[in-house]
Amino acid sequence: MSTVRNVLIVGGGIGGLSSGIALARNGCSVTIAELHQEFNVYGVGIIQPANALRALDALGLADEAMRRGSPYGLVKMCTAAGHVFTQVGVPPIGRLPSHNGISRRILHEILYEEAVKQGVVFKMGMSVAVIENKADEVGVQFTDGTTGTFDLLIGADGVYSKVRSLMFGQYKPRYTNESVWRYPFKRLPELETGYMFMGKRSKVGLIPMTADTMYMFLVTSEGEDNPFIPEEELVPRMKAWLEEYSAPMVQKVINEITDPKKVVYRPLEVLFVPAPWYKNRVVLIGDSVHATIPQLGQGAGLALEDSIVLAELLQKENDVTVALQQFTDRRIARCKMVVDVSVQVGELEQLDWKGQLPEGINIGAIMGKALGEMMQPI
Ligand SMILES: Cc1cc2nc3c(=O)[nH]c(=O)nc-3n(C[C@H](O)[C@H](O)[C@H](O)COP(=O)(O)OP(=O)(O)OC[C@H]3O[C@@H](n4cnc5c(N)ncnc54)[C@H](O)[C@@H]3O)c2cc1C
Repeated sequence: MSTVRNVLIVGGGIGGLSSGIALARNGCSVTIAELHQEFNVYGVGIIQPANALRALDALGLADEAMRRGSPYGLVKMCTAAGHVFTQVGVPPIGRLPSHNGISRRILHEILYEEAVKQGVVFKMGMSVAVIENKADEVGVQFTDGTTGTFDLLIGADGVYSKVRSLMFGQYKPRYTNESVWRYPFKRLPELETGYMFMGKRSKVGLIPMTADTMYMFLVTSEGEDNPFIPEEELVPRMKAWLEEYSAPMVQKVINEITDPKKVVYRPLEVLFVPAPWYKNRVVLIGDSVHATIPQLGQGAGLALEDSIVLAELLQKENDVTVALQQFTDRRIARCKMVVDVSVQVGELEQLDWKGQLPEGINIGAIMGKALGEMMQPI
């Protein structure tokens, strides 16, 4: 059994909350320092493939996520006109379905409520200013000037991680020339599973979120200069991209895109930090160390899996350094595969939109193979 008893987690996103729950359930005293004074999770959904549900199940939360979300099967891949040509997705894992669509806010609430129940302490509006990382403990000065000493510090502070920049050097996320536009809707009665529509210049997804709601994602290439899009342009530009889709389900909702405040526009960035993912008593998880783009819908699933594996190894292994090395070893190939294949799919779809996709390349088959691998035990 590890000597780690008192843990500081920096970042209260999916990775930080799930790690806090897993460690608190193992008897650790956990503090989460979250930059924002209040959580302000945006109002669209997230795809949870079966492996993400499996990680949630290890925390006892999969059933709650499915009850408050919307389980569905394989994703139907369609032409822009709506003709289904294949299906993709992580196959079901035991009783867990291929996917669960869920509102990000609801997922965050489920994780936060469980963390509170497990006794996790939250320091809101707080980050770390100084980290003194020793062989057997880590001293911290918080941004409010208070200090603390912990057995382990987990950096779960996302793609622009401050913990990473303080402890691991400078790594800059790379913009992939792609962006995602998202918008929430009342659910169409005919949306019985997830759908993707492949356009000539973009692709669109319609994903169930709850029994009554769904969201759209639209993946586009906005060019190499990553332009800033002012709020007043969000609705007309999103609708302009959708003009090429004659699929009835897309047509039915286009005119409901009216509120720029509901358009969640996000340029897509990737980052992968080479091994090791720890130094003395500081370890990185989630997007802080492997931020992927959503082409496989796996980023949050990887963060959840990191949390399960890290807590398991810290529980089992007496020597903390050995546990952290084993953590890197167990996670790195799987996370790298997800980032690499997601980037590959993003590049191929951009070639496709330019009419330059090499003969014989089947993007759906590349996605299907990678998603099939996600069933493997972690
Ligand atoms: C457009 C888009 C769509 C996506 N869709 C999916 C999907 O469908 N399925 C899926 O599995 N994944 C998806 N992802 C990826 C997923 O959102 C991320 O992988 C996941 O949120 C990573 O969780 P995290 O906890 O590591 O980081 P984050 O979610 O970024 O959380 C980091 C937390 O740390 C806090 N923080 C930041 N800096 C500091 C600091 N200095 N001090 C203290 N706290 C700090 C932040 O406020 C935040 O609460 C998508 C990503 C994008 C961009």
